[in-house]
Amino acid sequence: MIGILCAMREELEPILEKVEIKEVIEYGRNKFYKAKFNNMDLILAYSKIGKVNSATTATIMIEKFGAQKLLFSGVAGAVDEDLKIGDLVIADKTCQHDVDLTVFGYEPGYIPESKVYFECDKNLNLIAKRVADKMNVRLKEGIIASGDQFVHSKERKEWIKKTFNAIAIEMEGGAVGCVAWTLSVPFFMLRAISDTAEEGAGVDFDEFLEESSKVSAEFLIKMLKELDEK
Ligand code: SAH
Repeated sequence: MIGILCAMREELEPILEKVEIKEVIEYGRNKFYKAKFNNMDLILAYSKIGKVNSATTATIMIEKFGAQKLLFSGVAGAVDEDLKIGDLVIADKTCQHDVDLTVFGYEPGYIPESKVYFECDKNLNLIAKRVADKMNVRLKEGIIASGDQFVHSKERKEWIKKTFNAIAIEMEGGAVGCVAWTLSVPFFMLRAISDTAEEGAGVDFDEFLEESSKVSAEFLIKMLKELDEK
């Protein structure tokens, strides 16, 4: 069973269109779609925005529905300068940029007995790179930082870049990464850029959410095909 997770309805819908939905299960104030894609069994859902919602949904996918891998698809704000709207990024690691216990001498993002960075699955990233090569599209790999805030300020963005060496910012990856690490489930994080995360990002986001969601969804479907052939 492969878990496919998004934050928002707009991110999940273009994926649902490409799979064969077998059953819709209402659980935990959410809808979970059991589906088939070629020979693979999938469980799909959008969690609602933010770290708590995405961590909850990821946990349910693993513990209740038996997901053995988690693939995330969605949109993100750009941090790396050469990323443009519509570009694809994958995470080698995710973190939580809004975790702050620095007054106790810890580095930003660190929680005692946990860690700052949660690694994504190297094999899944390799498959993604192979798919990108085949499609001849650019796929940038790097750290994706998450927090419970929509970043729309150059100052905040520069701080996140400097502190975590992030290439993109969003609101779920660090939480799903933490769940995947806790429960030892391979995790893949894919995002298409929807905005610059600077002043005016909210306007860009509204304009490009649908388009960028589709870019990410189409890539994820290509990846599923590759996984199916393995
Ligand atoms: N306009 C939406 C809210 C969007 S929140 C509404 O009214 O419902 C932004 C979502 O996209 C989050 O799920 C987050 O993961 C991602 N995202 C895209 N750009 C972002 C940015 N600049 N900062 C933080 N999250 C961003």
